[in-house]
Amino acid sequence: MSEDGLPPLRAVIAAHGLAARKGLGQHFLLDLNLTRRIARAADLASGAPVVEIGPGPGGLTRALLLEGAGHVLAIEKDARCLSALGEIAAAYPGRLTVLEADALAVDIPAALSRAGQTTPAQLVANLPYNIATPLLVRWIKAEPWPPWWRALTVMVQKEVASRLCAEAGTSDYGRLTVLAAARACPRRLFDIGPQAFVPPPKVVSTVLRLEPRAEAPDAATMAALERVTAAAFGQRRKMLRTSLKGAFPAPEGVLESLGLKSDARAETLTPADFLALARRLGASS
Ligand code: SAH
Repeated sequence: MSEDGLPPLRAVIAAHGLAARKGLGQHFLLDLNLTRRIARAADLASGAPVVEIGPGPGGLTRALLLEGAGHVLAIEKDARCLSALGEIAAAYPGRLTVLEADALAVDIPAALSRAGQTTPAQLVANLPYNIATPLLVRWIKAEPWPPWWRALTVMVQKEVASRLCAEAGTSDYGRLTVLAAARACPRRLFDIGPQAFVPPPKVVSTVLRLEPRAEAPDAATMAALERVTAAAFGQRRKMLRTSLKGAFPAPEGVLESLGLKSDARAETLTPADFLALARRLGASS
């Protein structure tokens, strides 16, 4: 038995036949000490309801409940996991709602409301690696703003964390960095090696935390920012006066009027420079 009176995760996996499936990005964390460390990196004391994506056999779910989450809404696509998750729900009456769904298709605020919970919530998850980036982009683009989340505490592939937290001028710096910086402050917390997972993934994972900026660009500016960064980073080796032709009819004049060098490359512009370009694009279209 574990501290929560539930069987160890290895026994849960064996009892419910939860052999990991690659197509679902399944890499399970079986060490409750490790999942508790992730849970403690979230701000459970805030009392904000927790949303978890991909609970799987429930290692992180159990840690969140043990560490004091008032309510967890856990969204899992793999129906095989539901019976194991049901046992956790029974051990914590009224504190765990399990939703069988594809996280990419769920309206999270509506699901929270159906579960009797209010927003803002906080999201804590060991994200399925194959959809981590689209999920993060979706939450960064959430409308209305401030969003339904007050913090995202997520484990992702280290490479995704590096892109989210990159400095201008580095090879990791790109569209994801600029979109995230416009609306949130991403912070790396700690790394977890492949051997902590069953089965081990090929790469190191990083736990990171994003908090939304109160003052952030609106939906139209975010759409313009996506167009500008797509053009600039789509041809990141080219000079901006060339690559930005995908966004502006005459990029040279626009760059000059913003005090930016037209022979520079995308990665030399700061997130604030990109935002200035997006505002110019928004105003002209
Ligand atoms: N949180 C667990 C499992 C992480 S593995 C742990 O830390 O051990 C990723 C989990 O996400 C798996 O349970 C997988 O079935 C689930 N998953 C994959 N794609 C999903 C999707 N589109 N929507 C919801 N869950 C998904």
